[in-house]
Amino acid sequence: MTRSVLVTGGNRGIGLAIARELQAAGDAVAITYRSGEPPEGFFAVQCDVTSMAEVDAAFAKIEAEQGPVQIVVANAGVTKDTLLALMSEETFTSVIDTNLTGAFRVAKRAVKGMMKLRKGRIILISSVVGLSGSGGQANYAASKSGMVGLARSLARELGSRNITANVVAPGFVNTDMTAVLDEKLQETIKQNIPLKRQAEPEEIAKAVRFLASDDAAYITGAVIPVDGGLGMGH
Ligand code: NDP
Repeated sequence: MTRSVLVTGGNRGIGLAIARELQAAGDAVAITYRSGEPPEGFFAVQCDVTSMAEVDAAFAKIEAEQGPVQIVVANAGVTKDTLLALMSEETFTSVIDTNLTGAFRVAKRAVKGMMKLRKGRIILISSVVGLSGSGGQANYAASKSGMVGLARSLARELGSRNITANVVAPGFVNTDMTAVLDEKLQETIKQNIPLKRQAEPEEIAKAVRFLASDDAAYITGAVIPVDGGLGMGH
């Protein structure tokens, strides 16, 4: 049976790769986008995850189009990197608001429908730096480690309803987010990756497809690294 899927920030980068991968697996895939024109081929709804009202409205449209969301991928995220001494409170809280509270808003709204279905998959896209930390990314790393606590709490709360909650922690992925980094820094990061290269977004998407599949029915509260070994040791 076709499953109803939502990927936030599915208009580009890792989110778009996830949307394509799940669509190829036979799912009905809706995406949210915040700005610009969404890619063709998906049911696309404009939604800023910093607004509960927008998240709620997006879910209502998606439910009307393809039924209650069975698999939700909270992927939308931002970076605003700077050293702590230079980081304003707004720079800290705005990243938390998008990445962590945004995932909370999306999961909270998704669970409403999943409880009725008595099944569901919540997949949060965190980051290797959520566990390792990262100089210049106190806001981002805090938001990403917060997603681990969020997912694991949901795994405990909702397991009895046949709803799983898992985290995918990508490493250094070839998207707009990393393309803006200084070339020398990119080279240094690559040298620290055992596999000595960036991931392509599709490589993250395959882990998400697995977590969304029947094969992953007994996996909940897990943090799956897809990072070429960059973060191993946790
Ligand atoms: P991109 O910068 O390419 O895409 C970010 C996506 O998030 C876009 O779709 C963007 O929408 C959306 N977005 C940002 N803010 C909001 C918001 N307030 N409301 C709704 N949507 C929003 O990033 P990636 O594809 O690289 O990253 C995707 C996820 O993977 C992020 O959570 C990121 O932290 C994580 N990640 C990325 C890594 C990497 O190396 N690239 C490594 C580890 C984790 P719009 O197009 O409108 O801006």
